[in-house]
Amino acid sequence: MKLSFARKAGALYASAIFIGLNRAFTSLTMQLPEILIPATPVQVLLPDAAAALPLVCDSPHSGTDYPADFGYAVATADLRRCEDTHVHWLWDAVPQAGGTLVHATFPRSYIDPNRDVQDINPAMLADAWPGPTTPTARTLELGMGLVATHTPARQPIYARRLSAQEVAHRIEHYWRPYRQALGEVLEAASAQGPRWHLNLHSMPSNAYERLGRVAPGPLADVVLGDLNGRSCGSEFTGRVAEGFRQRGYTVAINDPYAGQDLLRQFGAPSRGHHSLQVEINRALYLDEHTRELLPRASCVREDIASLLQDVAAYVRHAGAAHPTPSSVAIAH
Ligand SMILES: [Zn+2]
Repeated sequence: MKLSFARKAGALYASAIFIGLNRAFTSLTMQLPEILIPATPVQVLLPDAAAALPLVCDSPHSGTDYPADFGYAVATADLRRCEDTHVHWLWDAVPQAGGTLVHATFPRSYIDPNRDVQDINPAMLADAWPGPTTPTARTLELGMGLVATHTPARQPIYARRLSAQEVAHRIEHYWRPYRQALGEVLEAASAQGPRWHLNLHSMPSNAYERLGRVAPGPLADVVLGDLNGRSCGSEFTGRVAEGFRQRGYTVAINDPYAGQDLLRQFGAPSRGHHSLQVEINRALYLDEHTRELLPRASCVREDIASLLQDVAAYVRHAGAAHPTPSSVAIAH
């Protein structure tokens, strides 16, 4: 079953910021690129209700529908290096395993659903942002915040400064629908007890170089991130790592990627909310220049489908064995 979360009625998503911007910038609207409303910024694939498990997987960076109002000034091929291309295809057995799969349709270079909404560098804007901004050091240094200013190769994406109205539009019609859809399915998954969340990505084969670090050795096939233990119980992290290793993949934990904002937002292992980031090395399945699948990609997808059966068995067992403190309290 597939649901599309289209833009909901304006009142639901219109924040005070956006309303304020509309008032402040009405006179500028005619000078901007035509602003379009996306039909489906996020897709949600549900399992059969009878087999549904408290397992949610999300792919925030595999979207490839470039909005017409993007207005970038760099070669598309260079911009596409930001994508985790095909990741939701690699994991498309999630619903058959009993989980829910959420994925973005828009590219993360347009706006990144895995960044905090205040992670904006005001220097990229042509006018004042009408709210607080808290850009991270990485955003200021690499230009990869909520709205990226640079490609991974440090090329500027724009030949202009963006208007605050443009960024507000991207937040309200892409970032917020994604976060809301994911939040809703995670909330539903944890209604009866603990939940397990796999946050799905792929990483460039030169990940250390991109991060400006000296590689301590070969990049692993799979990097699991749990914010150094803060977003996921160690037992689940260990099970997923073992599942990949049993299938012949090398696995590293939290190095070089420990996780980002979606883990910070949704991971709370003390409450039974386990969020684990999974990064697949792109060299395993993708031609990193053309973004086309390699012949062996279907093997990776089959391995993941098999791994998902193990994950589902773990969730089925652990969900029954470990009720959350709140459900224990209700039982008493
Ligand atoms: Zn990613």
